[in-house]
Amino acid sequence: MSPTREFRIAVFPGDGIGLEITEPCMAVVDAAASRVGGLRLAYETLPAGAGTYQQVGTALPDASIDAARAADAILLAAAGLPDIRYPDGTEIAPQIELRSILDLYAGVRPVRSIPGVPSPLADPRGSRLDFVVVRESTEGLFVSHRKGTVREDNEAEDRLLVTRRGTERVVDAAMRIAATRMTRGGKGHVTCVDKANVFASYAFFRKIFDERAALHPRLTVDHVYIDASTLDFVGRPWRFDVIVTENMFGDILSDLGAGLIGGMGFAPSADIGDRSAVFQPCHGTAPDIAGQGRANPTAMFLSGAMMLEWLAEQHDEPKAETAAATIRAAVDDTFANGMRTWEIGGQSGVREVTDAVLSRIKEVA
Ligand code: ATP
Ligand code: MG
Repeated sequence: MSPTREFRIAVFPGDGIGLEITEPCMAVVDAAASRVGGLRLAYETLPAGAGTYQQVGTALPDASIDAARAADAILLAAAGLPDIRYPDGTEIAPQIELRSILDLYAGVRPVRSIPGVPSPLADPRGSRLDFVVVRESTEGLFVSHRKGTVREDNEAEDRLLVTRRGTERVVDAAMRIAATRMTRGGKGHVTCVDKANVFASYAFFRKIFDERAALHPRLTVDHVYIDASTLDFVGRPWRFDVIVTENMFGDILSDLGAGLIGGMGFAPSADIGDRSAVFQPCHGTAPDIAGQGRANPTAMFLSGAMMLEWLAEQHDEPKAETAAATIRAAVDDTFANGMRTWEIGGQSGVREVTDAVLSRIKEVA
């Protein structure tokens, strides 16, 4: 028998519903790992967020950063609360700080429909959605974050920056994702979403995209303007496989994608860099429902599955890939069999979904 592989996972429960969905997620990941065998996750739970800021005066302690850097992967639930802010009024968002500290340049947001979960789309072809939005996360319009200027209460200005290095690395990440998906039956297609007809920055993004795409002759590519892409998101989203786009466009398209698959409670994400990666649901801390057990932990579970998949690729460990597939299958089966969470009009929350997913993980062959 091969020896047991251990991965060190840094875990940030954060605030609000983050505190409710973290332990269930670790239980689900552990159950899938032990189901597969030969795989162990060693968790280190770390403080960060609004609660941490109140207690120790910093939202992301240095010790938490060091531990996150040293870990094989980082699992983050949700952090920040509307009423607890920095003295200058800005939001506490350690997840955004981690993105820049660890240089996590690719925001990966899968748009995968779950059977039984209602979607606003009426799909005439009856096909399920399964595509990925890859958002550049270090530059674009967000270089202007907290740096825009308002002059004499008369005009305001922000900056949009697209660099060769920033674009090359995110496009390369999108190409790798498309190639990996192709090994599992994916289309091997990458779409560049931009506004190259109007802006020099987006034309440059497209030029770099074409240069990098030429290095991947087995993949097919196309370009769509951002406005036309929103039409395709609601009109024929099954045309997509992997999308790569600038930071601001990616911000908008990932929420649009979450809307297509039932809402924030179902949308996982990963922020990936060359050395580190953070896995977290797309949603926030949901203070309106925190502490009531009403949160849907599915996005968190699927983020745990993405983490296992990434570990599998990084460490050439197919068992982690199998464990990821086990979680996705258990989630699908749970909802296909009638599970209805609060935000889709049902009455099930953290406990019910967790129990159902755990019992299916134990059942699946
Ligand atoms: P952030 O700024 O941190 O992204 P936000 O203001 O966008 O936060 P969320 O915390 O994501 O807001 O919540 C938006 C809405 O979605 C809220 O009504 C919340 O209750 C609901 N919601 C978010 N996550 C979940 C979940 N996992 N289960 C059920 N409802 C959720
Ligand atoms: Mg939000």
